[in-house]
Amino acid sequence: MRILFRKGLALLTSFLFILIGILAYPVSARETIGVYSKASTGEKVIAFTFDDGPHPYYTDQILEVLEHENVHATFFEIGVNIAAYPDVTRRVVAAGHEIGNHSYTHPIGRAKETSIWEEEIRKTDKLLAELGIQSPSLFRPPQGKCPVGLSSLLETTDKIAILWNVDTRDWEHRTTDEIIREVEENVRGGDIVLFHDYVSAESTTIPAIKKLIPALKERGYQFVTVSELLDTYVFKNH
Ligand SMILES: [Zn+2]
Repeated sequence: MRILFRKGLALLTSFLFILIGILAYPVSARETIGVYSKASTGEKVIAFTFDDGPHPYYTDQILEVLEHENVHATFFEIGVNIAAYPDVTRRVVAAGHEIGNHSYTHPIGRAKETSIWEEEIRKTDKLLAELGIQSPSLFRPPQGKCPVGLSSLLETTDKIAILWNVDTRDWEHRTTDEIIREVEENVRGGDIVLFHDYVSAESTTIPAIKKLIPALKERGYQFVTVSELLDTYVFKNH
């Protein structure tokens, strides 16, 4: 009787642990409203992302490094910068990289209504269409702060939202070594890594990725775009 009781207790405890695990697992909740910050996979595959461009000086240097390493990445571009430097955006696409929508004006804290966000997304899509670039399926909210009414926004604009789970904080003007360490110590298979191809002072992102990409290749990592990552490791079973 005592043994049966113990077995029952053990079963109940495991059941509770599983239940807590399911309830506390944030990715499943995020996936239901179309927000992704990584793909769950044990395979050594990662996606580098570059925000806030295009920039006439930095973006081209990043493209050079990626071409040299034969690696594709995802660029979350801002509409006003696309309008200013359309040729840079064209070069990003021509080199085989993915473009994501990062709003039109990067309105942190200013845009509260869903209709403003919709306008921000649509204006950037329209600009891209004028350059002959297909409407991106990815939207990255500025600073990763999801707007109010995000799920309906994603539905009406036909997008999914992409965050990240490794943040290089390169916009804080960290040293090259700090950026490298941040990625090398934290990166795991399925991760989405955040960089910027526009920062307000001299960028340390470029020397950092020059060293990081070969170092991560050496550790067995493969580089893909965000869509490739999600298509292969998130949506394949859906
Ligand atoms: Zn941004």
